[in-house]
Amino acid sequence: MFFLIMGGCGMPTLKKYKSKRDFSKTNEPRGAVKKRNKGETGLFVIQQHAARAMHYDVRLEIDGVLVSWAVPKGPSMNPADKRLAIQTDDHPMEYAKFEGIIPEGNYGAGPVIVWDRGTYRSIKEKDGVVIPMKTCLKNRHIEIEFHGKKLQGAFALIGTGDAVGEKSHWLLIKMHDEYADARRNIIKSHPESVKSGLTIKDLKKKLKK
Ligand code: MN
Repeated sequence: MFFLIMGGCGMPTLKKYKSKRDFSKTNEPRGAVKKRNKGETGLFVIQQHAARAMHYDVRLEIDGVLVSWAVPKGPSMNPADKRLAIQTDDHPMEYAKFEGIIPEGNYGAGPVIVWDRGTYRSIKEKDGVVIPMKTCLKNRHIEIEFHGKKLQGAFALIGTGDAVGEKSHWLLIKMHDEYADARRNIIKSHPESVKSGLTIKDLKKKLKK
């Protein structure tokens, strides 16, 4: 008997996300695909995650899941900065609320905070019509406007064509607008969770107790 495995262009599933986790051992949500809009707007979350290496997980609601990128240096408000963003597994919508400590021995073990959260909208147009996010993702050219507590304004996510294994490389770049600011280091000036006010340091202290 043959089984056909759907590739990246098919319906989103959470198979990879689920296969890497034992939900009896981690508090991360099990979740499901929850399609609920026509795909030009959605929720976004950026989670700071102190796993083996510190990174920021940028997640955009596309087609009922949180399409995700790990950004080692986090977002920058300076349009001159091109921040590497490595595409990771799609996560369930419920993950946008997740903050806490993934226990030792589990995938991605370490503290996670909700660094920013809000909504976004696609601003990439063709002939005056907004291109749906699903198409932008497939074209590896995303232009969005963030409406978060910390992040505001237009950002681009551009696929570079490079990949390590099946992890494709993109660049996260602030686009020029009134929110662009080369002098502002938003990662340093705003380290706290928008959900709890806690920082990664605070969670690490809790871990030691
Ligand atoms: Mn992560």
